[in-house]
Amino acid sequence: MYPVGPYPIWKHATRLADGREIIYFDESPGLGRAAVRDARDLGRVDDLAGPVSALRWDPLAGEWVVIAEQRQDRTFLPPADACPLDPSAPGRPTEIPASSYDVVVFENRFPSLSGARPRPAGPGDPTGGAGPAQPDLLAQRPGLGRCEVVCFTSDHDASFADLTPHRVRTVVEAWADRTVALGALDGVEQVFCFENRGEEIGVTLHHPHGQIYGYPFVTPRTARMLGQARLHAERTGGNLFDDMVAGELAAGTRVVARNDHWAAFVPAAARWPYEVLLFPAERVPDLSLLPDVAREAFCLVYLDVLRRLDALFGSRAPYIAAWHQAPVHAHGPGPGGRREDFALHLQLMSVRRAPGKLKYLAGSESGMGVWINDIVPETAARRLREVL
Ligand SMILES: [Zn+2]
Repeated sequence: MYPVGPYPIWKHATRLADGREIIYFDESPGLGRAAVRDARDLGRVDDLAGPVSALRWDPLAGEWVVIAEQRQDRTFLPPADACPLDPSAPGRPTEIPASSYDVVVFENRFPSLSGARPRPAGPGDPTGGAGPAQPDLLAQRPGLGRCEVVCFTSDHDASFADLTPHRVRTVVEAWADRTVALGALDGVEQVFCFENRGEEIGVTLHHPHGQIYGYPFVTPRTARMLGQARLHAERTGGNLFDDMVAGELAAGTRVVARNDHWAAFVPAAARWPYEVLLFPAERVPDLSLLPDVAREAFCLVYLDVLRRLDALFGSRAPYIAAWHQAPVHAHGPGPGGRREDFALHLQLMSVRRAPGKLKYLAGSESGMGVWINDIVPETAARRLREVL
C-alpha cells in the first residue's frame, strides 16, 4: 500500500504464464488478485533471444523508425465475449487471471519495443539517449524498451469519460508508478503514457485501456520541444511552457476549462479539429512529481473536458490522449536543458471534425509535415465551452 491523499492504493505485482509482468492497482486491501495463477499454456517470452523489433535510422529525417513485424499477428477487434482485457472467468482465461480488477497494468503481448531490463547500479546514460551523434546512414538497433497495457476498468462497455474521479485518480497513480518504473530500465530514455480511443483512430480492442511505451531514445516531438525551450530561454530568459500558458490564460479566448490547479485550452495553432492541452498550474517534469492536490484536481478537469468532447457530436468521440513528459535524463546544461525546465502536459486530440467526418493526415500533413486545420481554434474552444 502507498498513501496517495484521500485514496490509498494497494499495488501487487506478479507474472503471467509466459513470464510477462502484471501489476494490480487495487482500491481496497486484501483482495488476493495477484495470487491467482495464470493457467494458460503460453510459451515463455524470456526464451526469445532479445527484442523482437528493430529500430532503423531514417537519415533524411534524423529519426528512428520502429519495425515491428510481429505486431501484424495481434488480436484485432475480437467479439465482446472474447475480449482479452476482461477479467478471467471459468473456462475463459484472459490476459488478467483475476476474476475482477480496478486498474491493472501488464506487459503487452505484442510489443513494439521489448527486452529492457533493470538498469545496473551507477550513473545513468550520460548521453541522454539521443543515440549516436552520427548514426550510419543505414543504422539499425534492437528495438529495446518496454510496452505496457493499462486497463482502466473491468467494465468492457465503459469509456474513460465514464470513470469516477476516484478511478481516474487510481489511473493517475498507475501512470506515475509506471513512469518511474520504466524510466529505471536500462536504455529507456522516455516514458509515454497514452490512450487511443475509437476504431477511427485504429484501436484494435474496444475495452477501455491505454498504453505505456518506454522508448530507447528521446522522441522527435519531445526533442523539438526541448530545442524550442532552449532557444526561448536564451532569447528571453523565460520558460517557454510557462510563458505560453500565461499567454493563453491572458488571451482567454481558447480556454475550455480551468480550476485552481489545471488549465485546459485549445492551442493557438491547433493542428487537429478539436485539440486541447491540459497544463498543471505548477510546472513539473513528469507525472511522478505531480503534487497530490494537482493529481486530485486533474481528475475533475479531465473528465469535464472528455465529456465536452463526447457531447460535441452526441456520440463517443474518437481521440488520442498523449502525456508529454520530460526525458528520463537531463538533456543539456543551463536554462531550458534541465528536466525541471520541461512542463508535463496532456494533449487531447480528436480526428472528428463534424458528425461522420474525420480529419485524415493527407498530402500536406503526411508529405510535408504542414498541418491544415479546417476549424478555427477559437471556434473549437467556444464550442467546447458552450456544449455543456
Ligand atoms: Zn473487455
